[in-house]
Amino acid sequence: MSQVFKLFRLQQIDIQLDQTRSHLFEIIKQLENDADLQQAQENYNHQHQKVNELEKKLRLIEKDVEQQYAKIRESEDTLYSGHIKNPKELKDLEDEVKALKRYLQVLEERQLEVMIALDEEKKIHNDLERDLEKVKHEVLQRNSRYLGEKTELEKEIQRLENERAIAVASLEPDYYERYQSIRVSKKGIAVSRVQEKSCSACGTTLTGGLIQEARAPSRLAFCPSCGRILYGG
Ligand SMILES: [Zn+2]
Repeated sequence: MSQVFKLFRLQQIDIQLDQTRSHLFEIIKQLENDADLQQAQENYNHQHQKVNELEKKLRLIEKDVEQQYAKIRESEDTLYSGHIKNPKELKDLEDEVKALKRYLQVLEERQLEVMIALDEEKKIHNDLERDLEKVKHEVLQRNSRYLGEKTELEKEIQRLENERAIAVASLEPDYYERYQSIRVSKKGIAVSRVQEKSCSACGTTLTGGLIQEARAPSRLAFCPSCGRILYGG
């Protein structure tokens, strides 16, 4: 087996390794991506806080309403106790009860408004809670699928790395060094196959002499344009 053919084989293994590694990288990125879950959680938290605030507001109004009833009861008790005989004082007390009742009405209207608002916000809260559970479930399923893929890709990388080690061991060290340095400077492709009298990596047309050289087993030929090692096949 010629050194050039061995380099070409190594190149094919490296292409597969690069692709598998970049696929693995994508999968890991997907596994770490929980933007949809974060968004659903944020929406839910926001609504939860809104409901809490309305509940707090409602409790305060309920307390006010209760206190207002107590005030009215107290004033009415005095009014009907018979202790107050003075007509002016009685009239004042009657007016006070009326005023207290008017304010009670205001408070009760406010209470009703908050109750209605709370009801609506609770509905949204329940919807968002369901959404959140749904997204959690989806993320769980998605991640278990990605984890399966990740394991497969890691196995594949291990297999290719073993294959690569065997391929490298069978190469002359200086050929391998040459290959590695071209690979680094030429976007991962160091060996280019001659196809239809051209360099398949850059498309340059090659002379007959160079094509012959690229087929020779004993020495390396290089593309005059991109500088890659030519494999004549
Ligand atoms: Zn080329």
